[in-house]
Amino acid sequence: MTSLSDFNVRTKGQTDWINITGEVQKAVAASGVREGICVVFVPHTTAAVTVNENADPDVPRDVNLALDLISPDRREFHHSEGNSAAHTKTSLVGPSLTLIVTGGRLLLGTWQGIWFNEYDGPRTRKVHVRVI
Ligand code: ZN
Repeated sequence: MTSLSDFNVRTKGQTDWINITGEVQKAVAASGVREGICVVFVPHTTAAVTVNENADPDVPRDVNLALDLISPDRREFHHSEGNSAAHTKTSLVGPSLTLIVTGGRLLLGTWQGIWFNEYDGPRTRKVHVRVI
């Protein structure tokens, strides 16, 4: 059994982290897959997806501060859109996740959530979920 679904995410601000754990879990439940793999894929070049803490809102804030320090805007960038820092953060975080499905649910740690990461918003973005 396989299932492909997608949903939109509306981001606020240039940088935004949105917890999409519930939407991905819904896609897993709708797939009917009890034991398998869930792939989450973000088809964008200035947005990414990651698993990180879902309890303390200071964690996303601090990770974004760290990414700003790693990839600040620089005058030396050539890309004419002016968003090379966002492209760099996207490559550092990555476009996809591979997650374990067991008992019809995502296998995540107690403090883990799935986060959509916006680095060049606000925009309406898309997330693809495939469960096999
Ligand atoms: Zn660009």
